Amino acid sequence: MIKTETHQDLRRGVREVCANFPGEYWRELDAKREYPEEFVRAMTKAGYLSALIPEEYGGMGLDLSAACAILEEVNKSGANANPAHAQMYTMGTVLRHGSKAQKEEYLPQIASGELRLQAFGVTEPEAGTDTTRLKTSAVRSGDRYVVNGRKIYISRVQHSDLMVLLARTTPLEEVRRRSHGLSAFLIDLREAVGNGLTVEQRRVMMNNETNELLFEDLEIPASSLIGEEGEGFRYILDGMNAERILIAAECVGDGRFFIERATSRAKEREVFGRPIGQNQGVQFPIARACVNVEAADLMVKRASALFDAGEPCGAEANMAKLLAADASWEAGNVAVQTLGGYGFDAEYDVERKLRETRLYQVAPISTNLILSYVGEHVLGLPRSF
Ligand SMILES: Cc1cc2nc3c(=O)[nH]c(=O)nc-3n(C[C@H](O)[C@H](O)[C@H](O)COP(=O)(O)OP(=O)(O)OC[C@H]3O[C@@H](n4cnc5c(N)ncnc54)[C@H](O)[C@@H]3O)c2cc1C
Repeated sequence: MIKTETHQDLRRGVREVCANFPGEYWRELDAKREYPEEFVRAMTKAGYLSALIPEEYGGMGLDLSAACAILEEVNKSGANANPAHAQMYTMGTVLRHGSKAQKEEYLPQIASGELRLQAFGVTEPEAGTDTTRLKTSAVRSGDRYVVNGRKIYISRVQHSDLMVLLARTTPLEEVRRRSHGLSAFLIDLREAVGNGLTVEQRRVMMNNETNELLFEDLEIPASSLIGEEGEGFRYILDGMNAERILIAAECVGDGRFFIERATSRAKEREVFGRPIGQNQGVQFPIARACVNVEAADLMVKRASALFDAGEPCGAEANMAKLLAADASWEAGNVAVQTLGGYGFDAEYDVERKLRETRLYQVAPISTNLILSYVGEHVLGLPRSF
């Protein structure tokens, strides 16, 4: 293999944790649609999910490039970082924009794993990708806000103590720009669920606990507000580059997993008296998928290096996400083809990973929206919406 590996010690440690959670573990949970509690606990105990929390709050204090190496390694092992990844980055909104009191109260407990902040409530049934049209409202009433509305596909709520919520605090008709008047809140789910917040699980394509949330006069303390009222959209956008780069790294991990599985099978499996990988019709698609995963990895590395240097990286983060999601999907498809009928068989893990990696063409941002970002912000083409 070509040598692109960075953070070797860190990767070795992550591999050691993941080795305790082989394909069988994930397959069983996938069949039962259960949350990988033991895996998330092990990753927390080893400290990896606190990678981005500064040392002064008890975290590992690593940069985004290191965090990318962790998540890539998880997915490369055949595991799925999705149930755990949000614990790594959702706290970024609190870290960057929270008050001193919020940071001191929550970050050390998130770093130790005592508290989980891995729910992030943005998407709504009616607003969809057009976030600024979201309708969930938070109305100030004395020392509280009263929240009403509906969210959809909000992941990991049952495995979170806290959730970052984006809600409208000034009606759309009263703001100068659509992106104004939205606010971010840190909601304590332990108090909210059953007291104005109802959580209903949605069954989706892969084992991902994602939910519909109904807010009916949920009262939250005014101190739940993160930063300034009305600035929430900007705060959420700030965290999106990190999220896109980290998820792109997971896709690179998925791509490498698929290529490894396809390559081993192509070497071992003999049909017509020779290994199937001796046929260039089998070899070339795997080789092409490998080229594309390696190219995507370079863009992930470039985006994370810019992020770590504090440079603007919106274009690179979006490009990395698109390239890596496409490359992992292509590699998954090639792996299925190489394994033939076995590619569809749960015991070989490829079909499960293919379903898992498919998500990243749609969430947290869809491919079309990335292309539209590049069209408008990189190429200067006219705004389409
Ligand atoms: C398993 C899962 C977990 C998720 N977890 C979370 C979570 O934890 N928190 C959260 O807030 N959200 C979550 N989401 C939601 C996810 O971020 C959204 O589904 C995604 O952003 C797309 O929004 P939508 O589903 O409303 O699609 P829509 O906005 O309805 O878009 C549908 C399609 O139309 C395309 N489209 C829309 N407008 C345009 C345009 N102008 N030009 C070209 N194409 C366009 C989109 O690209 C997309 O392909 C999750 C989703 C899933 C499936």
